[in-house]
Amino acid sequence: MINIAIDGPSGAGKSTIAKIVAKTLGITYLDTGAMYRAVALHVVNCGKNPSVEEDVTPLLSDINITYIKDNDENKICLNGKDVSQDIRRHEISKCASEVSKIPAVRLFLVDMQRKIADSSDVVLDGRDITSYVLPNAKYKFYLTAKDTERAKRRFEELKAKGQEVSYEQILADVKDRDFNDMNRDFAPLKKTEDSFEIDSTDMSLQQVVDTILTKIKEIDEKNSAKTQEKNVNTQVIKKVKDRKKQRGRWFYKGLANFARKVLRVLWITKIYFKENFPKNTKALVICNHYSGFDPCVIMSRIMGKDSKVVMKNEIVANSFIDKVSKELGCIPVKRGEADVTAVKSIMGALNNNQPVLIFPEGTRNRQKTKELLPFKQGVATFAIKAKAPIVPMIYYKKTVIFGRNKLMVGKPFYLDEFYDKKLNDVREVATQYIFDKMQELRKEIDILVENCKGSKKKYLEYKKNQSKELSSDVGDGRKE
Ligand code: C5P
Repeated sequence: MINIAIDGPSGAGKSTIAKIVAKTLGITYLDTGAMYRAVALHVVNCGKNPSVEEDVTPLLSDINITYIKDNDENKICLNGKDVSQDIRRHEISKCASEVSKIPAVRLFLVDMQRKIADSSDVVLDGRDITSYVLPNAKYKFYLTAKDTERAKRRFEELKAKGQEVSYEQILADVKDRDFNDMNRDFAPLKKTEDSFEIDSTDMSLQQVVDTILTKIKEIDEKNSAKTQEKNVNTQVIKKVKDRKKQRGRWFYKGLANFARKVLRVLWITKIYFKENFPKNTKALVICNHYSGFDPCVIMSRIMGKDSKVVMKNEIVANSFIDKVSKELGCIPVKRGEADVTAVKSIMGALNNNQPVLIFPEGTRNRQKTKELLPFKQGVATFAIKAKAPIVPMIYYKKTVIFGRNKLMVGKPFYLDEFYDKKLNDVREVATQYIFDKMQELRKEIDILVENCKGSKKKYLEYKKNQSKELSSDVGDGRKE
């Protein structure tokens, strides 16, 4: 599939340019900003506050976004109604920026965007297309312009539509949205290293379009020369390797599947906030660890078939267990030494967009305490090197067979503030950061189990009340 990803701040001209590029190449154009706007519109129409996560998340299941073709244009429909004009209202821009900070909203829309990109040739524009939605896209662009220029363009566009707004207000809003988009925790706007940057401040529309089309041609030419050379050799080698691997694999595969099924029955686990787990993307999953069966539950019930887990080498001491565990996605690691093979397998899996489970405590908690053991520094290293999100998960207490084990999935977070630093300088503080995030999640699961009797509904109400109390406290403070 041809996927052309264009990111950039608001008002940089992305949608106009992306539309022309798509038309020139005869492929579809997908305006992902319109999707966030449609969600925002629904939230506003329901009388809810777009910046309150607890208000917005439950509404997602009522939202159905579709497209209809109208004279070469794709009109966006919200629950069957054409909202292409409505979503362009100035106040909806701000609300879209607010809802876009909520991870559940992003996961909901990203899933749709990936499905569209998987099944059609498409130009997508947005904020996180190159970094999060399609990190492996062949053509990646970062389109930007000075904020004053972007505000000017937006101002003229709205004025032409008869909307009453002042330039100063638009400029302030542009800056505000830039800040929101670039600083949110989950999938913020940023220029990826492999994106081609175009500053359109002093360029005409046609110049930008031409620059993009020329770059696409250049990438194609480079790639076709490379692939021709590689193709012949790799295909032969791969066939020989595959044949060797396949021999006898069915037996171990069968055993692995059987193990998964048995475990689901024996190792009863209630999972909270499974929806926080990002699908179809690389991720480092971390969790506290009590039993050898913990990874099986997490992998089979949350992470899916393609997932991997890093386990100590001693576990796969004989070749039989080694083969079954490989089918279960195990990456054995020799502890206490630099295990290059394991590092390559972990990085390989992440670069291949597979989730990898690592127990940051490095070993099982044999005392079975609720307190976390100190973290090893591996997770920070991989999360920074692979620029992968970390998904924290936590068991309420020690896990047992036939018990009512409880597991909470936290929101994914990135270590992006460390990406451009020297790994050796930041490994320790990044590890502390991860540890603190897990401690926060520990507090949440304690609240959920101990204050809310393990009921997600009660927990959400509890959180809502807590934030209400907090905001009324702030209110009181102002009055004084
Ligand atoms: O591009 P547009 O201005 O229509 O997008 C509206 C809002 O949606 C943006 O301000 C941004 O916060 C959000 N958005 C996003 N990720 C995308 C596209 C848009 O967060 N991929």
